[in-house]
Amino acid sequence: MKKRITLLPDHVANQIAAGEVIQRPASVVKELLENAVDAGSKTIKLIIKDAGKTLIQVVDDGAGINSKDINLAFERHATSKINIAEDLFALTTKGFRGEALASIAAITHVEIHTRTSKDEVSNCVKIEGNKVVDENFSTHPIGTSIAVKSLFYNIPARRNFLKSDNVELRHIIDEFHRIGLAHPMIKFLFYNNGNEIFDLPSSNLRKRILDIFGNKLDNLMVPIEETTSLTKLNGFILKPSHAKKTKGQQFFFVNNRFIRSSFLHHAVCSAFEGLLKQGYHPSYFLQLDLDPKTIDINIHPTKTEIKFEDEQSLYAILRSSIKHSLGIFQVTPTIDFEHNQTLEVPYSFKDKAPSPPPIEVNSSFNPFVENVSLPISKNKQWEGLYSELKIESNLVSKSLDPLLKVPQTTRVFQLFSKYIVCPLQTSMLLIDQNRAHQRVLYERFLKEITTKKCVSQQLLFPKEILLNSNQQIQLEQSKEILDSLGFQFELKSKQLIELTGAPEDCPIDEIENIIENILSKNEDSFDEHHFSHADRVSKLLAKNLAIKSGDLLKSEEQQSLLDDFFGCKETTVSPFNKQIFISLEKGEVEQKLN
Ligand code: ADP
Ligand code: MG
Repeated sequence: MKKRITLLPDHVANQIAAGEVIQRPASVVKELLENAVDAGSKTIKLIIKDAGKTLIQVVDDGAGINSKDINLAFERHATSKINIAEDLFALTTKGFRGEALASIAAITHVEIHTRTSKDEVSNCVKIEGNKVVDENFSTHPIGTSIAVKSLFYNIPARRNFLKSDNVELRHIIDEFHRIGLAHPMIKFLFYNNGNEIFDLPSSNLRKRILDIFGNKLDNLMVPIEETTSLTKLNGFILKPSHAKKTKGQQFFFVNNRFIRSSFLHHAVCSAFEGLLKQGYHPSYFLQLDLDPKTIDINIHPTKTEIKFEDEQSLYAILRSSIKHSLGIFQVTPTIDFEHNQTLEVPYSFKDKAPSPPPIEVNSSFNPFVENVSLPISKNKQWEGLYSELKIESNLVSKSLDPLLKVPQTTRVFQLFSKYIVCPLQTSMLLIDQNRAHQRVLYERFLKEITTKKCVSQQLLFPKEILLNSNQQIQLEQSKEILDSLGFQFELKSKQLIELTGAPEDCPIDEIENIIENILSKNEDSFDEHHFSHADRVSKLLAKNLAIKSGDLLKSEEQQSLLDDFFGCKETTVSPFNKQIFISLEKGEVEQKLN
């Protein structure tokens, strides 16, 4: 061991610290917005380019930085927010570690303009990789503007790990939501590539939630309020009828700081017990005010996990006050007499008399004849299936080969309302109906998107769908794809679309849900693994429209499903990479029963 111990130079130490604090553009956004909040700003503007990869700029009208302190602000452990260790237990600011600016400056190019009320002009400093490259004066108004360019310019590995602009933008929007919700009194503006994404006026929590997530939440909000010696709790939960299968709007704020806590989340879920279907998640926006002495925020560099002194009591308070409010604000649907029903009818249909929907009648239908061919079967006969089998992958050819010798009279049947059992000559296939149908639909949608040949159904009553800002962004990106799948719609305003047509098999009642799903953010793991936008939409639609586990299928429907399924290019895995079927060999059965 020749090597001696040395102290790391500052720029190296800063780069290492940056690794903890700055993972992606959204981390920079979080830190800069928090600094602007701590500076007492009334209006904060966030400007980004290319999802923050090219530029992240935050402009505030806060206190500004004293000219003598500017360079110090970019040193590690330099903060104006605490002085002594005891201050850690009386925190009222977002920041206190004095690490963010040093970390950001270590891995980007930073330009800061700042001016306090005492300054005649503003001071401007440019820093690249922790080195000051220019110092000057400028004409910025009171407050601070920090522009961060070329993120990770000196750490190519990090830069290469960044996800698509779409994914990074959503992470940024998430951070923006959290800070915007924690500070409804502050006005926030947000621009991406020159387009305004959010313009949130100064308001209260209720209005802020609606400004971010759309006015349609208005009727769903149930207020929560409770004051005890330990904490002041306030906020909103959404009625259980609005619960979603994807984890959507779940926000805890402690002393105006967004935090994650699986323990408190559990408390909320337990209050909803019995009111949510399995797999559905509650939505909530809850603020807890606690004595800073009773919490420890300093357990993680990003400060989103905290320790509570009396977690058990908080659990009980949350659970009981939510249960209480769910009880007062009746959660079961009731007739709302104050609601103006005529507003629900689209304007163009207001004075029209209802007309009966067109019904297709098969005049040759005879219920006493067996083997009726149902519309769901695309007129391909079961017998034709085997000759049409396309065998693509090795695995399939191995498992499905015997099919070719199958007697043509074989009947399939459904098991546990979940699987289709398909007996073959020397084996048996157990096929997951949901996954098989997802596969069928997924391949069909992908094909439709590329060939632009789809069958669309006209809606008798056009549906109006309100979009929040997130969904508006998504719509721009998905418009062409939705078109080619048979969704027909018109933009009535920035926030409102009118849907007049939908894909052939799309159940009318589900359409709104499906569009929302396509246009909404989804679980990250899912988002980051799709190949393209078309792929994501096809997967989502397939997931939404596929036959579910538990759906009872008529024998013709079972056969038609298999018919379509064996026509797929890939038959081993579902679009979500789940195995679709297992095969049980005759020999295995004989061995087991020997
Ligand atoms: P921390 O927020 O933990 O104190 P930072 O590295 O984020 O550390 O910032 C360092 C210091 O720079 C802050 O303590 C604050 O004094 C000053 N500062 C940073 N951003 C702003 C801003 N937008 N307005 C005023 N002061 C700022
Ligand atoms: Mg800070």
